[in-house]
Amino acid sequence: MAKLYENEHPVKAFGWAARDTSGVLSPFNFSRRATGEKDVQFKVMYCGICHSDLHQLKNEWSTSIYPMVPGHEVAGVVTDVGSKVEKFKVGDKVGVGCLVGSCRKCENCDNNLENYCPGQIMTYNGIYIDGTTTYGGYSNIMVTDEHYVVHWPENLPMEAAPLLCAGITTYSPLKYFGLDKPGMHIGVVGLGGLGHMAVKFAKAFGTKVTVISTSASKKQEAIGRLGADSFLVSRDPDQMQAAAGSLDGIIDTVSAIHPLLPLINLLKTHGKLVMVGAPEKPLELPVFPLLLENKLLLKFQTEEKHRLRQQLQWNPWYDFREVITSAALHLFRRRLLGCREIIRYRNFLQRNNGNRRQR
Ligand SMILES: [Zn+2]
Ligand SMILES: [Zn+2]
Repeated sequence: MAKLYENEHPVKAFGWAARDTSGVLSPFNFSRRATGEKDVQFKVMYCGICHSDLHQLKNEWSTSIYPMVPGHEVAGVVTDVGSKVEKFKVGDKVGVGCLVGSCRKCENCDNNLENYCPGQIMTYNGIYIDGTTTYGGYSNIMVTDEHYVVHWPENLPMEAAPLLCAGITTYSPLKYFGLDKPGMHIGVVGLGGLGHMAVKFAKAFGTKVTVISTSASKKQEAIGRLGADSFLVSRDPDQMQAAAGSLDGIIDTVSAIHPLLPLINLLKTHGKLVMVGAPEKPLELPVFPLLLENKLLLKFQTEEKHRLRQQLQWNPWYDFREVITSAALHLFRRRLLGCREIIRYRNFLQRNNGNRRQR
């Protein structure tokens, strides 16, 4: 079988793949397609580790195709372009997020909203238009249609690759739902890979930020390290009651099952609870409290391309360096359960030019 993956396409590639639900990644020799006329080929320099990679590696969404090379926060340098590529040239720095294809015919595609296209093709664990499986950025080389590639700003370090999913997943809803106005009071639920970015963006927009967490142990990190203004322990009913009706909006980043009513109670009238996490089981929806004060519960999907560009241009990137740290590939030789404990905030994989196997 291994030969099949190596010979499927003409361009040799190397990556780290999951072969089953164990969560273990192992070296994977495979291949990439030749550069098509609208394609950009690039060498991967950095790839963020997204929480959804962990879900998909272990087939927690029941859609996994093995072997799987995860990674949809990919930053790299262009090595080849097709004859009809207009926006990129060899040597350009580029980024690829969650999508590498869509139908290009529907209303969403016409309006640059490919992320809502029913025919979207995911960067990994998807089936491309040629019928082959897509492999992501835990690899040394990628080939992507230029339509799904963004320019990487010169002054933005490529270590910030996690902006391509985690960043836009929190930046975009704050912008889209008007929760970016100075003086607003924003809650951020959960302080993991998405939560810390939400805090940073909300602070950069000039809002007051309260972090809401089940664990009081995160208070020092939230306030001292990330610059949040206040902290609520969601398991403490007195604290939650005292803060009732105080928030204009909440970005809820938790992807585990959790009660929504205590969060809805924190909102002002007309407040918005935006869910950006992806729980694998349905949550209970308390309709009455939403109706009574005209509050909104919203689910946000990531990565409208114009906002992705806007974010990369705007982003005060230096703020993020402290919370995006390097994870060594060798961690993946072990079970990712262990890795979850090691990964703090947001991590990335870095190209290792000293290792011949990854060239
Ligand atoms: Zn992601
Ligand atoms: Zn479409």
